[in-house]
Amino acid sequence: MDHRIKEMEAYATLHHVPIMEHDGISFLLDYIKEHHIQRILELGTAIGYSAIRMCLVDSAITVTTIERDRERYEEAMRNIQKFGLENRITVLFQDAFEVELNDTFDLIFIDAAKSQYLKFFKKFEKNLSKHGVIISDNLNFHGLVHADEVTLSRNVRGMVRKLNQYTQFLENNPYYETTIYPVGDGVGVSVRKKV
Ligand code: SAM
Repeated sequence: MDHRIKEMEAYATLHHVPIMEHDGISFLLDYIKEHHIQRILELGTAIGYSAIRMCLVDSAITVTTIERDRERYEEAMRNIQKFGLENRITVLFQDAFEVELNDTFDLIFIDAAKSQYLKFFKKFEKNLSKHGVIISDNLNFHGLVHADEVTLSRNVRGMVRKLNQYTQFLENNPYYETTIYPVGDGVGVSVRKKV
């Protein structure tokens, strides 16, 4: 594997930056390849790891990605430069809830604050192309979504409840066909139904 990818993984471990798990990212990259996805919106850049890896799948791919943490945003910009992908990855240094986009995307990848997934989905759904897909990471939240609630701290319990609500929302949403794959930390794939 490219040493620059390994360096990003090492940086993430050292600085406790949560990036996608190995089998989660492999799943995502295979999905992008198989479905010939070209325009991607990502919520939660962190240090640019997943944005860069998605972009490297095919030279026609472009990624718009949003990050609100300055240090991570700056590290992402450095990494994107190292790969020479400045022309294909646009990083918006903003809170995703303050971003207004008019473009449409084939894939919206939600990987930001877990307690806000439902709000992210509702806000950015209008930017999804007609037959697009919304992919959500961490739906399993380190196995905690199936844990006994009593054993969890108040904060974690709140997060778990919100993730469970989100999963139910996806499963009951008549406009999308959702499958949750037990890879990485639980990856939800919601394909917009053809009407
Ligand atoms: N997708 C990245 C990867 O796999 O390489 C990992 C993203 S990390 C799990 C989540 C990131 O989302 C954090 O860096 C956090 O600062 C950012 N984030 C959380 N809520 C956000 C928001 N409302 N707007 C923008 N960024 C947000």
